[in-house]
Amino acid sequence: MSRSWWALCRRLGLIVLGAALLGWFAGRVLLALLIAVAGCLAWQLWQLYRFDRWLQDDKDVDPPRAGLIWEGVVSRIDRLRRRNRKRKRKLGRLLEQFQQATAALPDAAVILGDDDKMVWCNEASQRLLGLVPGRDIGLPVTNLLRHPGFVAFLTRQHQGDSVEFPSPVGDGLALNARIVPYGKKRRLLLATDITRVRRLEQMRQDFIANVSHELRTPLTVVIGYLETLLDSDSPALEAWRQPLRGMRQQAGRMLHIIEDLLMLARLEAQKDRTPGKPVAVPAMLVDIADDAIALSGDQGHRINLMAEPGLWILGCGKELRSAFSNVVFNAVRYTPAGGKIEIRWYADEGGIRLAVEDDGEGIAPQHIPRLSERFYRVNRDRSRGSGGTGLGLSIVKHVLNNHGGQLRISSELGKGSLFVCEFPAELRVEPSTAFARNETGSRW
Ligand code: ADP
Repeated sequence: MSRSWWALCRRLGLIVLGAALLGWFAGRVLLALLIAVAGCLAWQLWQLYRFDRWLQDDKDVDPPRAGLIWEGVVSRIDRLRRRNRKRKRKLGRLLEQFQQATAALPDAAVILGDDDKMVWCNEASQRLLGLVPGRDIGLPVTNLLRHPGFVAFLTRQHQGDSVEFPSPVGDGLALNARIVPYGKKRRLLLATDITRVRRLEQMRQDFIANVSHELRTPLTVVIGYLETLLDSDSPALEAWRQPLRGMRQQAGRMLHIIEDLLMLARLEAQKDRTPGKPVAVPAMLVDIADDAIALSGDQGHRINLMAEPGLWILGCGKELRSAFSNVVFNAVRYTPAGGKIEIRWYADEGGIRLAVEDDGEGIAPQHIPRLSERFYRVNRDRSRGSGGTGLGLSIVKHVLNNHGGQLRISSELGKGSLFVCEFPAELRVEPSTAFARNETGSRW
C-alpha cells in the first residue's frame, strides 16, 4: 500500500478514536462515532463532487487537493490529459499532412467500408469519378459508379486485377481502377486517368491501319506489273527474269505483312463483341490440314487430325480460320521434313481446345513468353526464309482474346512444341441449334 493510503487510514483512525473518546466523556459513544463517520463521508462526497466537475472541464472549479489520495489521483489524471492533448495535436497534424498528400494525388482514392459503402474520398475522386463527399458518404459505391464492367469487377475482383471504364463525369475520360483490401473489411479503390495512354494507343492503331491501307494499293499495282513482266515472252526481258522473280517475291512478302497488320488493326478495334455465329470447326480443320499437307509439299510431314465431330463453337469463322492456320502452318514451317504434326480438337472439363503438337526444332524457354509480341522471332532469317511475317502468333493471341480464350505454349528445344488454343466451355454450340441460329442472321 502506498504512503498516501497509510496516511489516509491513519487520519481516519485518529478521527474515529477522537470521536470515541469524546463520546465516552459525554456518555454517547455511538452517536459520536456516527457523527464522525457521517462527517468523513460528507467530506469525501464533497471532494468527489469537485472532482467530477473538474473532470467535466468546469473552469470555475479547482480540483480537489485535500488529502494525498485526491492530490495523487488529480495529478495522474492531469498528466494523462496533457499526454492525450499532445497525442491529439500530433494526430491532427498527421491527418492534415495526409489530407494534403491525398489532395495532391493525381489518382482518385476512395475508402470503401461494409457492403462497399463509401467512407471517404479524396479531391481527385470528385474530378475523376464525380463523387461529392458531403452527398455520397455512406452510399454503396455501385449506386454512384454504375458502369456494368466496374460493378462486375467489384464483385468478382481477384488480387492484382484492374478494370478500365469510362468516367461517369464524361469528357471522354478513360479510367483504370484497382481495389486494395486492407484492415477489417475495408477496401481502397484507386482510379487512374488513362485517357492520354488510350488516346496514344488509338493514334498508334490508326496510324498503322492507315499506313497499311495506303501501302496496299500501290503495292498491288507493282505486283501486277511484275507479274505481267514475268508472264511476258519478250527476249529483251530474259536477263531480267531472275531479278524480277526476286522483286515479285519480296513485294509478295510486303503485301503479306501489310495484310497481317490490317488484320491486327481490325482485331484490336473490335470491342464489345456479340457472341458470334456457330462455326463448324471440324470441317474447317479438315481444310486447314489439307492446306498444311500442300504447304509441306515434298517435305513429307506426317500430319494427323483428330477432331471431335459436332464440336462447334460460337465465334468469327474468318478469324478462327486465320488463327488455327497460323498455328498449324507454323508447325509445318518449324518442323524438319518427315516430322510428325498432330492436330487435336476436343472438349474437356477445362473448356474447348485446339492442340497442335510437333516434334520439330522446339523453342528455348526464354523466348516463349515473348512469342506473341509483334515481329518477335526466335530466328529472324529462319522465319523470313519460310515466309513468316512475325505477326502470326500476335494475330492468334488477339483472336483468342476476342473469343474469351487464351494461347498456351509449351516447348522443349530439339524435342518439339505444343500450342494449345483454349476456349471457354460456354462457347460450345450444338450443330442443330447452329443451323437455326444461322437463319437468324448474326453479326458474323
Ligand atoms: P513467324 O511469321 O515468324 O512464324 P509467328 O508469330 O507465327 O511469326 O511466330 C513467332 C516465332 O515463334 C517464330 O518466328 C518461330 O521462331 C516461333 N515458332 C512459332 N511456332 C513454332 C513451332 N511450332 N516450333 C518452333 N518455333 C515456333
